[in-house]
Amino acid sequence: MARAFNFSPGPATLPEAVLLRAQAELLEYRDCGASVLEISHRGADFMELAQRAEADLRALLSIPDDYAVLFTSGGATTVQALLPLNFAAPGQAADYVVSGHWGKTALRQAATAVDARVAASSEGGGFRDLPERQGWMLSPDAAYLHLTANETIHGVEWRQLPEFGQAPVIADFSSSIASEPLDVAKFGAIYAGAQKNLGPAGITVLIVRPDLLEREGQPRAPVLDYRAQAKAGSMLNTPPTWNWYLLGLCLRWTLDQGGVDEFARRNARKAASLYAAIDGSGGYYRNEVAPRARSRMNVPFFLHDPALDATFIAQAREAGLIGLKGHRVLGGMRVSLYNALPEDGVRALIDFMQEFQKSHG
Ligand SMILES: *Cc1c(COP(=O)(O)O)cnc(C)c1O
Repeated sequence: MARAFNFSPGPATLPEAVLLRAQAELLEYRDCGASVLEISHRGADFMELAQRAEADLRALLSIPDDYAVLFTSGGATTVQALLPLNFAAPGQAADYVVSGHWGKTALRQAATAVDARVAASSEGGGFRDLPERQGWMLSPDAAYLHLTANETIHGVEWRQLPEFGQAPVIADFSSSIASEPLDVAKFGAIYAGAQKNLGPAGITVLIVRPDLLEREGQPRAPVLDYRAQAKAGSMLNTPPTWNWYLLGLCLRWTLDQGGVDEFARRNARKAASLYAAIDGSGGYYRNEVAPRARSRMNVPFFLHDPALDATFIAQAREAGLIGLKGHRVLGGMRVSLYNALPEDGVRALIDFMQEFQKSHG
């Protein structure tokens, strides 16, 4: 069996060691007499697994002790919808910095429950750059400021976080969490769907500063209440146990590989070599994002002639390179370079791109 190099934006490639371990443990987890899929989330075996995953995430991201860590279902999009219910008073303003598709989604998901304001947007320029800090219009009474750390579709990433205002910052780190060191204490809350850089789809990580968790928020059902979920260890109802287990394996793998410092180095090398190949192709391949805002995680690019797109994708697949088709809003190609994508994969892709250019020049 040959596994391809998988550049999928999400669900995305997982470490082979994790898949093999899950395979080996599938029928019986430890000496439970049953699969991890089949045991109670309240039993000792699962509780231990869940707590280990939280401890590993805390270690990996150096999360300050007083921050709560929640594991939720419903994806990052559901978090976006629940942010205002949990962290804003009825009718209060919340500021959104919109740097791409996901920033827009966050705004749209929140708009029925908060006075959601576009504090800044780079949509006018086609989301090819970040909104200049000088131009941000911050509301003095905002419940929070929301931004997207890495725009998975547009390939735009905050490489240097700007100075924020006084409102707590809530950041969507779905596609860049654990890709490099992160100062969690700068944020009121951080969230990330696991299926990009942390593990499988179906589980989402939410890291919250205690003063936000103590906010009254708005009327909501107990199961949608993050304070109540935190008190219950994210187990007010049955959590996605399989996903939690896989996330735990991925976190352990990430730590064993050397943690965020090591992945920062690998990811920087991967992105630098790919951008160099694109920029050095004499216009055959083209990335349109301003260099200061280029994402290390998701690299969209276009062929000089879109009529070649289908051939490029088909021949890449034959060369063992999959998941390259661009998002439908942009077209072209997109290369996702998450932690689990090995450096060999990037070298193979660059070789393929150069060969393709030679034979279809
Ligand atoms: C994928 C993604 C989302 C949406 O995640 P779901 O789990 O599908 O809800 C939100 N924000 C960013 C930055 C993403 O990459």
